[in-house]
Parts: sequence; C-alpha cells; structure tokens
Amino acid sequence: MTTQAPYAQRMELSQAFAPPLLKPALERLEKGFAAYRADAGQTAEFADLLRTFAGRPTPVTEATNLSRKWKGRVFLKREDLVHGGAHKLNNALGQCHLARFMGFSEVIAETGAGQHGVATAMAAAKLGLKARVFQGKKDVDRQRPNALRMRLFGAELIPVTDGQATLKEAVNAAMREWVATFRTTAYCLGSIVGPHPYPGLVRHFQSVIGQEAREEMLKRLGGKHPDAVFACVGGGSNAAGVFSGYVEDASVRLVGCEAAGAASLTHGTLGILHGMETLLLQTEERQIADTHSISAGLDYPGVGPWLAGLKLDGRLESAAIDDDASLAALVELARDEGVLCALESAHAVAGAKFFLQKNPGATVLVNISGRGDKDLDILLQKGLGT
Ligand SMILES: *Cc1c(COP(=O)(O)O)cnc(C)c1O
Repeated sequence: MTTQAPYAQRMELSQAFAPPLLKPALERLEKGFAAYRADAGQTAEFADLLRTFAGRPTPVTEATNLSRKWKGRVFLKREDLVHGGAHKLNNALGQCHLARFMGFSEVIAETGAGQHGVATAMAAAKLGLKARVFQGKKDVDRQRPNALRMRLFGAELIPVTDGQATLKEAVNAAMREWVATFRTTAYCLGSIVGPHPYPGLVRHFQSVIGQEAREEMLKRLGGKHPDAVFACVGGGSNAAGVFSGYVEDASVRLVGCEAAGAASLTHGTLGILHGMETLLLQTEERQIADTHSISAGLDYPGVGPWLAGLKLDGRLESAAIDDDASLAALVELARDEGVLCALESAHAVAGAKFFLQKNPGATVLVNISGRGDKDLDILLQKGLGT
C-alpha cells in the first residue's frame, strides 16, 4: 500500500495537529503499541478474547433472495453478530487490552449515541479496568438504554453539559480530562480519527473484519475477490476494517457509504478537527458545518484521515445515501434476508443496491456494521411496522 496510496499513508501518520500537551501521551502510546504488537503472548491472548468473548470470527452470509432480486451476488459480513451487536467491540477490546498491557488500571472514553461507551464498558469489565465515559447530556437523556448498559457494566458515566451537549462536546471534555490525567489513564478512542497513533491503532484492531472477510470470500468465490466492497462511514472504523483486507487488490472497488447530510468524503475539504487534518464539512468561513443523519453513528462532520487519504489517492469511492434510501434498504434486508441491521449499516446496503443497478451481475460484499435493535424507537417513529 505504501506506493499506491501515498496520501493515505501520510495522513494516517500525521501528528502535526495534535494538542501539544498530549504529545508525551501519544508518544508513549505509540511505543506501547509497538511493544504490544511484538509480544507473542499478548497477541495470542487477544486472539483468544476475540474468539471466546467477542464471538469471532463472524460469518459471511450470502443474501440469496436479494441477489436474485438485485441481479447480482450479495454477501454480508456479519459484524452485527459481534458481542454487543456491532464492530465497535473489536476496537474497544483491543484498546483496553493494550491499556492493561501498558500498566493502566483506568480508561476514559467519549461516546455519542453511547455505542462506543457501551463497548468500552464491556471490555473494561472483562479486563478488570475502571472505565469513565464522557457523553453529552442531551445524548444521555435520549439514549437511556445505553446509559443504563454502561452503568450495569460498572462504568462511570459523566454527562457533559457544555454547548450542544452532544458528541463534539463529549470529545472535548474527554480530551481535557486526558490532558490532566494521562499519566495514570489510557484514552480509548471510538473511531479511526484523531492524531497518530490512533488512526493506525484503530485500523489494526478493526482490520480483523477485512482479514476474515477476504479469506472467507476467497473460499466462497473459488479463489476470486468480489467486484466491490461496501461499508458505511461515520468516523470510518468499520469501513477501514473491511477495506484493509482489499486495499492492495486494485481490481476490487471500495465504496464508502455516507449519510447524505454528513458526507465528508463526498463533499468535504481539507481542514483540522480533533487533532487531525482530514476531509471535513466546513462553511466558507471554515467553521465546522452542521450535519444531519437519521443514524447517530454517521452524524459526524469529518472522517478518518486514512480514508480521506485513500479518497485523495483515487483508491476509494464514496456514495452519499439519504435517510429514506437507507430506511428502505433496512426494511428490504429485514424482509428478504431476516437480518435487521443498524441504520448506519443500511447506508452500505443501499449503496450496494444502487451499484448493482448500474453494474448488473456484479458480486458485492457489504459490511453489516451492527444490528438494528438499538434503532427500533426511530423505526417506530417513522411509522414502520404499524
Ligand atoms: C458507531 C457505528 C458506526 C459508525 O462508526 P464508524 O467508525 O464509521 O464505523 C457504524 N455502524 C454502527 C453499527 C455503529 O455503531
């Protein structure tokens, strides 16, 4: 990948925009991660945790009914079957395992809708760490089941009341806390964003999705690859995970499916947010633009720098999918395949459907990043199932 994707590599490794006070913590993390990866005992222990706690490997399901209807071959990588119901545990478990290896007994995390907070709380409970999770007060109130889950797993939930009291403020509060406490605390970051080493670290822990998918698809397709791979993109961690398995196979098209109201790969320009330079949705005055999506996980004005780099390198395509198309795809997948996916994942399903309309007969792999049970309230509000 080094030669084919120079932007992706350079942007993933950048620390130029990190808060100066965090440089020592980031350097310590970089060293700790290198030592962790070189440690065969840790690698074996983590592989065992993925298998016996997270429920990996996850299966690849051929969506035979949709394949017939959409005139192609559709395969689903089932991250909805990971413990907790989404890919987020791959990363949270990895970062908590790394934190314990580095000698920490406490982790902090930010969370938006609460999915990463729950994953961190589960991983921390399993690994005997104390977790403190920062969440915007507004999100605490509108995502009550996740607040309860975090507390049941023994995490301390800290509501953040600044500004809009949502994800951006939660990130800022967690960052401030880390600046004050990094000598004793690890920061478990929830997506493939931020300064180096986070993007590379998160991609490492999510790349298990792509490794498993690639191996399984080679078996199913008699030694061949799919024509295209689809994943939804919020910060970009599940997408980076599955794309990592195929980025060096130039014949495989990689398509990042964004919410139309938060399409930073499709419409963004280079700017700086949360310690990284990446594609961002900005106003003409270079303020961060307001975003909208029916799915909380995609409602982010930026994207991980590795994916932004792959886009600039011409390796990654993007598709902007609106709320209605993603809802329709969710319903179609549920009716035809018996899989209720997350609203986030439904964007990737819709992206694959549109692709097959233009490329009949193609074979596609869709990463189902999570299950839809968390979205049932929204589906009810939209009048589905009545
Ligand atoms: C959080 C979340 C996302 C978005 O995060 P990425 O870092 O872009 O993967 C997508 N799907 C589900 C199910 C999520 O919980």
